[in-house]
Amino acid sequence: MKTHARVVVVGGGVMGVGLLYHLALGGWRDVVLVEKAELTSGSTWHAAGQCPLFNGSLNMTKVHQYGTQLYPKLGALTGHQVSWHPCGGLRLATTDEEVLWLKHVYGLSKLAGYEAHIVGPREIADLHPYLDTFGVKAAFLTVSDGHVAPADVTLAMAAGARQLGAEVYRHTRVTDIQHLPTGEWEVITEAGTIVCEHVVNSAGSYCDVVASWTGHRAPVANLLHQYVITEPLPQLRELAQELPVVRDPYSSCYLREEGHGILVGPYETSTPHTCWQDQPPSWDFASELLPPEIERIMPWLEKASQRLPLFAAAGVKSVIAGAITHTPDGVYLSGPAPGPRNYWMHCGASIGICQGAGAGKYLAQWMMNGQAEINMREFDPRRFGQWTTPQYTRTVALEDYRRMYYCYKPGEQHEVGRGLRTSALYESLAAQGAQFSQVFGWERPRWFARKAGGAEQFSWVRSNWWSAVEQEALAVRERVGLMDLSAFSKYEVAGPDAETFLARICANRIPKRNGGIALAHLLTAAGFIESELTVTRLAYDHYYVLSAAVAQLHDRDQMLSRKLPHERVSIADVTDQWGVVLLAGPRARDVLGRTTTLDVANSAFPWLTSQIAPVAGAPNVRLLRLNYVGELGWELHVPMQQMAHVFDALMMAGRRHDISLFGTYAMNSLRMEKAYRSWGTELSNEVTMIEADMERFVDLGKEFIGRAATLESKRTGPRTLLTYLEVDAADADCLGSEPVYYADRLVGITTSGAYGFAVRKSLAFAYIDPATARAAGDFEIMIRGERRAARMVPQPAWDPNNERLRA
Ligand SMILES: Cc1cc2nc3c(=O)[nH]c(=O)nc-3n(C[C@H](O)[C@H](O)[C@H](O)COP(=O)(O)OP(=O)(O)OC[C@H]3O[C@@H](n4cnc5c(N)ncnc54)[C@H](O)[C@@H]3O)c2cc1C
Repeated sequence: MKTHARVVVVGGGVMGVGLLYHLALGGWRDVVLVEKAELTSGSTWHAAGQCPLFNGSLNMTKVHQYGTQLYPKLGALTGHQVSWHPCGGLRLATTDEEVLWLKHVYGLSKLAGYEAHIVGPREIADLHPYLDTFGVKAAFLTVSDGHVAPADVTLAMAAGARQLGAEVYRHTRVTDIQHLPTGEWEVITEAGTIVCEHVVNSAGSYCDVVASWTGHRAPVANLLHQYVITEPLPQLRELAQELPVVRDPYSSCYLREEGHGILVGPYETSTPHTCWQDQPPSWDFASELLPPEIERIMPWLEKASQRLPLFAAAGVKSVIAGAITHTPDGVYLSGPAPGPRNYWMHCGASIGICQGAGAGKYLAQWMMNGQAEINMREFDPRRFGQWTTPQYTRTVALEDYRRMYYCYKPGEQHEVGRGLRTSALYESLAAQGAQFSQVFGWERPRWFARKAGGAEQFSWVRSNWWSAVEQEALAVRERVGLMDLSAFSKYEVAGPDAETFLARICANRIPKRNGGIALAHLLTAAGFIESELTVTRLAYDHYYVLSAAVAQLHDRDQMLSRKLPHERVSIADVTDQWGVVLLAGPRARDVLGRTTTLDVANSAFPWLTSQIAPVAGAPNVRLLRLNYVGELGWELHVPMQQMAHVFDALMMAGRRHDISLFGTYAMNSLRMEKAYRSWGTELSNEVTMIEADMERFVDLGKEFIGRAATLESKRTGPRTLLTYLEVDAADADCLGSEPVYYADRLVGITTSGAYGFAVRKSLAFAYIDPATARAAGDFEIMIRGERRAARMVPQPAWDPNNERLRA
């Protein structure tokens, strides 16, 4: 066994091996994988092997698609036989909302470039003559996906990795991992110790135990999943072509052919449970099944028999019961763990056979190049914070499993695992009808249902929130509104080198005067956008830094990892200590002025400055004159224990102007009117500041990380360009990831959108190929399957000269 390696991957399932193969393909030779038993002996060997293309996320679609493209040719590439079954798939829809979802995913298929059709019951019957289509409104037909033998693909990728120089140690358990003072990782195994630059946790059902050795946490539950296979049936033997895999929300089952019999796997919509009493299996558990619990899945098998009567007629040959790893949001973990560099998570997959190749490809890119070619935010393990307790993980993962075939509408979230992080205003806002969304554990109001019983009716089209949000948005434009923004991530960056540190890591210039505020971005060395920060200078050696709620761990890591050893800077996360309210609208000055003795006149407190002052008896409120809604306004950063009091005072002072609470739906509408970009959608690691049309936030006159690449992006010209569009929408606005056409040619993709109530326009951002973006003219955007005319808007639809902000 080696004593040193560049990378050690712990675990030889499809996820670990998929990564190993792609690291080797990428040219990293000194990579090893350590597996405690045989390769595939965890969850991988007994999986059903389906590889679907149908998915509601474009990035995840790319992951799935890569597998469906690689697996058919993997045998030829590696010399190891792979049995790929290109039978296609049918995802059934039984409600109108599901049909709308299929239409949304149809747009994704255009962007990803795979063949898909929305078909009706008659075509379904042609494609699958044994299916009973009762209650079926439509189906999403994918023609180039199928299923594969899980061991085949894993062993083939292992063979390919070995051919490229990677080493695999089987029957060797990793017993501990230590972080060394050198920054390297020491991987201790039964057969010796390997010191490495990167360590990867791909330990499947054991990932949380392996994580715990270094103080990490992998929020992954082991859930019991079962499928049954029947005896062969003569009807299937006679078919010229294999039937497509069917995914059916009615029975919550997948149904397909297997060895001329039928394979049915249910996701129980009630009574699913975890394995091994929530403990990981014993270390010697390998290549074993769990005891079948057929009674438990009978209700769903009965429904599957109604859907496919042939199944009812067949005798069950075998029941496969095994552990499936599942995260609270159903998406695997792939990326850096929070804290010291180069500890990577690559585990928690519940569709890992399909995802193993693509997940490995994109994580390998991230490890080798500092970033992947796709936006990895939804896979990043740092989307889960300290609030992700084992109890939360278990409860929410079970709920997510139950709803495997449920159609989540925009804005809809799990109702379990809630109320974890609340601001001091939570009760007051709830009493006002706040409809909360969870973001990084925080409860944040989306909108306010002022009528009793007016909870949101989630839908793919505008729903009962529409007129309430209109009122909220117009209140901000015409009078004054107040929003709880406490979920912001907040840091104190302090020390004698704080200014030079921030200037070196941020693309924009850092404020030179106390009280100055700047919007600043952290770029990768290759010039792509990594983080967006609001930097406020409190003193020459003390900065208050804000970023998105979901970025709390990500941005802390970004700042810490960019700090040089000699720089005298401390970075403290103060998120939970400060509450934030945004007061915005033409009457904001009057309302604020009634709660503080501070001079809030424009001359004394101009736009993009901050001051610390008493407000409503709270002595040290940080007032920042900026906002994300494009109005005269202040963010008030208040110590959390004084927040409720300040809120009451502002609401009282605002009564004379009929102050209105508003939530994130209204904020999204308002920021779209101002053409403000959003981190994670318009601003991501897929684009440069030049491509995002954000050059005004770049100071090329100073050195900063990513400067050379930004200059190069400017010199060569953008590969894609952010554009701002007005859309002739009907009853639904852009959500992001809709295809954009010009002269019937696919030219771009939307990143987000909303209806602007003050400007009476449906607005969207889209990345478009630069030649077309400059040509202007009439575009079309496919919203839920229908092409809608769209036109470029040359400047922000609201207050293009920032006059209201500066007022
Ligand atoms: C019944 C069933 C049906 C399924 N059907 C499908 C399907 O149709 N399509 C699909 O895409 N997915 C399916 N899945 C899910 C799929 O099996 C998993 O997502 C996938 O196998 C996870 O791969 P993994 O590499 O993360 O984990 P695993 O395959 O469990 O691999 C982890 C490996 O790490 C090793 N290990 C752990 N700790 C250590 C240590 N300390 N030292 C050394 N080695 C260690 C283990 O021995 C194991 O081999 C199914 C799952 C089940 C249970």
